[in-house]
Amino acid sequence: MSRFWSAVVHGLTPYVPGEQPKLDNLVKLNTNEHPYGPSPKALEAIRAATGDSLRLYPDPNADALKAALARRHGLQPKQIFVGNGSDEVLAHAFMALLKQDRPLWFPDISYSFYPVYCGLYDIAHRMIPLAEDFSIRVDDYLPQGGERPGAIIFPNPNAPTGRLLPLEAVERIVAGNPDAVVLVDEAYVDFGGESAIGLIDRYPNLLVVHTFSKSRSLAGLRVGFAAGHADLIEALERVKNSFNSYPLDRLAIAGAVASVEDEAFFQESCRKVIATREKLVADMRALGFEVLPSAANFIFARHPQRDGAELTAELRKRAIIVRHFKAARIDQFMRITIGTDEQCGILVGALKDILGR
Ligand SMILES: *Cc1c(COP(=O)(O)O)cnc(C)c1O
Repeated sequence: MSRFWSAVVHGLTPYVPGEQPKLDNLVKLNTNEHPYGPSPKALEAIRAATGDSLRLYPDPNADALKAALARRHGLQPKQIFVGNGSDEVLAHAFMALLKQDRPLWFPDISYSFYPVYCGLYDIAHRMIPLAEDFSIRVDDYLPQGGERPGAIIFPNPNAPTGRLLPLEAVERIVAGNPDAVVLVDEAYVDFGGESAIGLIDRYPNLLVVHTFSKSRSLAGLRVGFAAGHADLIEALERVKNSFNSYPLDRLAIAGAVASVEDEAFFQESCRKVIATREKLVADMRALGFEVLPSAANFIFARHPQRDGAELTAELRKRAIIVRHFKAARIDQFMRITIGTDEQCGILVGALKDILGR
């Protein structure tokens, strides 16, 4: 605390990212990074962009990346906004679109950055409880008895549960709130969900946000994007150009374009993670764990007899790092990122040992 801080800073409760330990030889399954590296074509493009041209600013509009994403998703470039990680895209969306007179609605168990942005931008919000089975109940997000949201945001698949809302359910929420922006945060959709991007041309209130950090294995490059009606995108551009004109550097633009253009690599690397997930879910259930159905590159699991925090600590002693949240209703769960088959094998072996099997 310092007397030099602004009143805003005194009131902030910042997001706490999963730890990035500086140790080697850890089985690191705590921050949902992809176990296999990025497309070799992306790495080659980044190397090719490393040179004297770095003395020049990058393209402030990242037109090459918007064009590549527009081609990939069947949209126009003016329907795409790009940013320095999807966290930055989300931050701009909170300020540009989700801050309204009525409260923003989102699930009580969800990405813990959402309440942090509400604090930063002073946005009134209502947290809507998930159902008993940790699914999102569509009816809870429809206007009811004179009450309607100023805007809505939810991840799909949800984080940290991994549960997927089918596309027709997402569409019911979007169609049922024609006067509110509905932001669907699809950070994990490539691991088994169907994207709502296909609905954009029918719903001017729909904004879909993606990241290159998970399915494209480029968390270190910091690239994310939003897709939606050109009017929504313009709102994001206005905030971005009032904040930082050059959020994406030359290396990020080059690497991201090459990643988007390497569709075969992308499909195959997601398929491998999905196959490993299915095996891990079966192995964990065989050990007595309750595992929520996951369409993401992580699973959310609890053991009926063993405490979640204690299991997390026992794994850590064996150099395996998973994520544990202290929040109500989910403090018995561990969120485990899908690693390589080998890493998941080490995890299952350690759990057998801990459970005395
Ligand atoms: C990881 C994640 C993000 C942010 O990803 P960036 O690395 O900032 O692109 C956004 N939303 C959810 C739900 C996430 O899990």
